Amino acid sequence: MINPKIEQAINEQINAEMYSAYLYLSMAAYAQTIGLKGFANWLKIQYQEENDHAMIFYNYVIERGGKITLEAIEKPQTEWKSIADVFEHVLQHEQFVTARIHNLMTIAIDEKDYATVSLLNWFVDEQVEEEATVEDFLNTLRMGNDFKGAIFMLDREAATRTYTTPAPLLNK
Ligand code: MG
Repeated sequence: MINPKIEQAINEQINAEMYSAYLYLSMAAYAQTIGLKGFANWLKIQYQEENDHAMIFYNYVIERGGKITLEAIEKPQTEWKSIADVFEHVLQHEQFVTARIHNLMTIAIDEKDYATVSLLNWFVDEQVEEEATVEDFLNTLRMGNDFKGAIFMLDREAATRTYTTPAPLLNK
């Protein structure tokens, strides 16, 4: 049986992951409206990944005999000033998510719930990768702020991103 404190914290994290998915889908729609289809593709994959994160936690709670309690998902922002502004927001949001994952880890360690610690290790690593990718993008966007060519080049690069199922969801 799952520790009730952990069960509640993971249920809250499922909501946070669903909100992240929603936010990235909203950003994808914005990118589409300003004609940046490559960024829209990248953000839609980001949306899929966040849904996957929610499902990893969902499967875990069920596997441990816990109860899933879904709450309302907050309305995401719908307008940004530019694609650079979008990615500043993505980085800020990912840093927020990292802090949440670290907080969950602290609870799991305090509760001596080592199975949850093991699950969260995957998320800690995932966040390092997530922040590094976004920072890379952002550095180029910041440099190319007034240079349309740089944005279109990055848009083409973003168009090549493809979706892969995260390891914890394989065979589930
Ligand atoms: Mg996530």
